[in-house]
Amino acid sequence: MLKLLVPCMVVNTLYDIKLTELKQRGIRGIAFDLDNTIIPWNSSKICPEVLLWLNHLAAQGFKLCLVSNNGKERVRKIAAQCGAPFVAWALKPSRSGFRQAAQAMGLSPDTVAVVGDQLFTDILGGNRLGMITIWVKPLTTKEFVGTKITRELEKLAVHLLKATGRL
Ligand SMILES: [Mg+2]
Repeated sequence: MLKLLVPCMVVNTLYDIKLTELKQRGIRGIAFDLDNTIIPWNSSKICPEVLLWLNHLAAQGFKLCLVSNNGKERVRKIAAQCGAPFVAWALKPSRSGFRQAAQAMGLSPDTVAVVGDQLFTDILGGNRLGMITIWVKPLTTKEFVGTKITRELEKLAVHLLKATGRL
C-alpha cells in the first residue's frame, strides 16, 4: 500500500515538470487533477500563466485531459477554457477515472502521466494503473474540509516514506 503512494516525480510547481524527460519515457498525454493543481480550490478560472503553459504542452505534442472528483458542470466549464477533454466524478483513487482519461486522449494508460497535488487520490490512483505519477505542491492552503482530513494522513504517509527512504 505504502509503495503505491510513492510518486515517480515530485515538483514544486507545474512549470518544473521536465517535459523532455516525459517524452523520453514515452509519455504522450497528461491527466491533470483540477483543484489546487491547475486552479486554486473552488476557483472557476484557469489563470493566464497556467493557460499559457497548458497551450505550450499541447504545442509540444502532449495530449491533455482533466480528471476530477468534482461535479460535471464545474469541470466542464474549466476544461472548456483549455480545450481539453475531461472526466468528472472520477472517484479517485479509483482506476476507472484515469482509464477514461487515457481513453479520452486516445492513448493507452502506460503512455499517460498523472499530475496532481494529493497522494491519496491522484498519485495512488495513477500508480494503481501503472502510470507515471507527478506530485505537485498544492496551489493554495484553502481546501475542501474532507481534503484537510486526508492531508493529515498524507503528512503521516510522507513521514513514513521519508523515514524509509522512499521519498
Ligand atoms: Mg487536487
